[in-house]
Amino acid sequence: MIDIDPLNDSNTMITHYLCQIADDHLKSDNQELSIEYINKAKAQNNHSIRAYFLQTRIEVDNKNLTNAIKHYENLSKVSKLGHLLLLPILFKLSKESNEEDKVISVIENIIKEKPEVNESLAHLSIMNLELDQKIITTSLIEYISKQIYYNEILKFNEASFTTTINNQDFISNLRQSLHKATKNNYKYTCNNCGYKTIALSWQCPTCRSWESGNPINFIS
Ligand SMILES: [Zn+2]
Repeated sequence: MIDIDPLNDSNTMITHYLCQIADDHLKSDNQELSIEYINKAKAQNNHSIRAYFLQTRIEVDNKNLTNAIKHYENLSKVSKLGHLLLLPILFKLSKESNEEDKVISVIENIIKEKPEVNESLAHLSIMNLELDQKIITTSLIEYISKQIYYNEILKFNEASFTTTINNQDFISNLRQSLHKATKNNYKYTCNNCGYKTIALSWQCPTCRSWESGNPINFIS
């Protein structure tokens, strides 16, 4: 029996398969072929999430920060996955050339347009304790100060907010305890069938839908 799924019509299916091939080539270090398939995928769907994702990774590999940031920014318009999965490598690359400001300024713009991105950055700050960018920890405080549960425990108010985001010890302790309490909950859930995976899979192993994985909000 064939399942007909309106979300997976033939055009989007082709894009997914082309991206899968591009990803496989990238994994076997064949960047040239990977780019060829990304371009084919983009010809089908110019805003393919996975194509932006792969393009960012390739530019990071090539140490082209400007292009990597450009693809990351495009990706952020259609998906929140890049914040969790690509920001660490973007920061790492920008650190090498002392250009962290470039990444920070793009994140600032993204937050201005989409304040809900604070949630993804808050997750990142807890998952990745090595990231020491202030913009990430500010997002964490920004996000949890709006959650009733945390607000009651931590007693945030307008006046204490600035003091809090500048209190290194407080933030470091907060990140460590949240990390400890939540580290078994870093999972992705399929929007279509609810299946949970530890690592992001572009195609759900149970319902076979593509790009349906979403990070679980483990601090809500
Ligand atoms: Zn599924």
